[in-house]
Amino acid sequence: MGKSLNDVRADFPILNQQVNDESLVYLDNAATTQKPKAVVEALEHYYYHDNANVHRGVHTLAERATEKFEAAREKVRAFINARSTKEILFTRGTTTSLNWIAASYGEATIQAGDEIVISYMEHHSNLVPWQQLALRKHATLKYIKMAADGTLDMNDAKQQITAKTKIVAIAQVSNVLGVVNPVKALAKLAHQNGAVMIVDGAQSLPHMPVDVQQLDCDFLAFSGHKMLGPTGIGVLYAKEAILTEMPPIEYGGEMIDFVNLFDSSWTELPWKFEAGTPNIAGAIGLGAAIDYLNQFGMAAIHEHEQRLVNYVLPKLLAIDGLTVYGPHDPAKHTGVIAFNLDDLHPHDLATGLDMEGVAVRAGHHCAQPLMKYLNVPATARASFYLYNTKADADRLVAAIIATKEFFKNGTV
Ligand code: PMP
Repeated sequence: MGKSLNDVRADFPILNQQVNDESLVYLDNAATTQKPKAVVEALEHYYYHDNANVHRGVHTLAERATEKFEAAREKVRAFINARSTKEILFTRGTTTSLNWIAASYGEATIQAGDEIVISYMEHHSNLVPWQQLALRKHATLKYIKMAADGTLDMNDAKQQITAKTKIVAIAQVSNVLGVVNPVKALAKLAHQNGAVMIVDGAQSLPHMPVDVQQLDCDFLAFSGHKMLGPTGIGVLYAKEAILTEMPPIEYGGEMIDFVNLFDSSWTELPWKFEAGTPNIAGAIGLGAAIDYLNQFGMAAIHEHEQRLVNYVLPKLLAIDGLTVYGPHDPAKHTGVIAFNLDDLHPHDLATGLDMEGVAVRAGHHCAQPLMKYLNVPATARASFYLYNTKADADRLVAAIIATKEFFKNGTV
């Protein structure tokens, strides 16, 4: 990646610690990522030197805070190659971004009998807002199936997306199956049928180059904390023409132009949607995270993770009794790997791995309909990032084998 892995890891002091007397192997990156010093220092610098409210002040600190906040918006714009910063709204995270689309665009456009198309592999954040919108509007929610290997069934997508479809909302990368969905092809299909394409980028933005103009998606949602940034900050990208038509979601300070006693008018994009004091430090921290990622480039980060997947997936598949969900071909699998071991409950498996210092997640991963589809109550999930090494992959494999032995023999 242009910097040694040891040097990358030195940027993340949290990684250098013992957990249960073992050196920590952090493989819960799909839930949240660790923060490099550069991000923590950007937050500290902001609070120690520049803290003031944005947009409203003429004093020096207010101008500096506004400049840094808006510079972060420009960094996000460039990161996803949006045409204008008018298209970049700061939110709390992916969940808020998707709910905003449903509350504003969805409320304004969906009518009884319209169809909304999602997939069985959606995170609850990209499912429940559409399910509830459909219920409110008497619209129909439809699901695209998966092929046998866990990839999205594009033949079924062509069946489900019709002239009645108004919204297609799909994750670019599944937070369970680790597959990359063809959102560019889906956007084309959506547009041919007069629908908008919404991309849940929570698991893709941190790991691969994403260009909204190239994808031609109408909306893109993602979270700062999954890409080395702070919690509580996220992004909603939408095409300017759509945002111009969309009504505001919240009302109050910052988003108005004029307020009269009985009516008001809204300020320009993007601030029309950002009522109240925003998460200024969060946005600046996200900007610092983008700078950090850009020193390697997203293509190099993606390659690094794919090398780890090529290395670890065959080793996992070779463990007797281990079931890996999603494609078994490493070329079709990202660094999000969900699995179960024999009939061990995934919580026991994750606890066993924690005893070996390996942090993974266990549960339904906010994807209960997918668990039902896979016919499992839950899974364990390891997820890799730019600071993970082949040694981390070896530790995961060894810890699974040790846990298997422990539960077989009652001893390690
Ligand atoms: N979508 C996907 C695919 C996710 O993985 C997640 C986070 N697990 C979300 C949406 C929600 O993100 P957040 O909790 O940051 O709002």
